[in-house]
Amino acid sequence: MISAVDVTKSYQGRHGIITALDRVSFQVRAGDFVVVIGRSGTGKSTVLGVMGGLLRPSSGEVFLDGESIWELDERSRARLRALKHGFVFQNASVIPSLTVLENVLLPQAFLPQPTVANLSLAKGLVELMGLGSRLHAYPEQLSGGEKRRVAIASALMNDPPLLLADEPTGDLDSETESEIMNLFLSLWRSGKTIVMVTHNHQLASYANRVFKMSGGRILELPGQNGAERSIDCEQGSPREAQINVREAPRP
Ligand code: ADP
Ligand code: MG
Repeated sequence: MISAVDVTKSYQGRHGIITALDRVSFQVRAGDFVVVIGRSGTGKSTVLGVMGGLLRPSSGEVFLDGESIWELDERSRARLRALKHGFVFQNASVIPSLTVLENVLLPQAFLPQPTVANLSLAKGLVELMGLGSRLHAYPEQLSGGEKRRVAIASALMNDPPLLLADEPTGDLDSETESEIMNLFLSLWRSGKTIVMVTHNHQLASYANRVFKMSGGRILELPGQNGAERSIDCEQGSPREAQINVREAPRP
């Protein structure tokens, strides 16, 4: 689904050039739940931005379903983002002056052919996130976990096949973190491809593939490859999730 080939991204820092990604190559297959772990400053947000068509790499290529996204013009790339990517930003990212329902509807504005506001779909997503009774609440009336759910519902509005999430639980308590992670797990089971970056190693147990970033490089960790989407742990802990994952036969 996504393949990054020899991607380098450098920034001009105050004390010289910072190479956040150093000739990074990897592939994400349709149906993967990839968790990328790495300490702060290792390039996690950068790699997600480059994959998501938001941050132009200094060199290298990113293919999405065979299309080289950085060779497209800005308009085509925006179209592709609207159709294929659901982005959950770091410390996401709801608009304070819009209600829950309005926040969730917002991504429709970026679709190539603006459709009539799909209210029932948006309401369905809000309900899926367990916020059915808060449709007309404003973000300031919501808890951190609830706001994150709104951001996730909004990322799902255009029904993108791919969800990219930047530290989606970074600022949440551990109970809310498990709730949000179980939500990602059920989205994955419903067919979404997910790439999540985090500094929290424990979240690796939710993934079927784990990548580690350090020093601008990315490495796939062995072990969880081949897990199937047969997890039976909607409310379970990550540990249970791991136990219930049925491993595909190894070659
Ligand atoms: P992470 O998300 O893992 O914390 P980032 O991708 O945000 O890491 O950053 C990787 C490196 O690139 C860090 O050293 C950071 O300081 C640097 N960096 C990120 N964005 C910029 C920028 N806009 N300008 C200069 N340096 C940046
Ligand atoms: Mg980051």
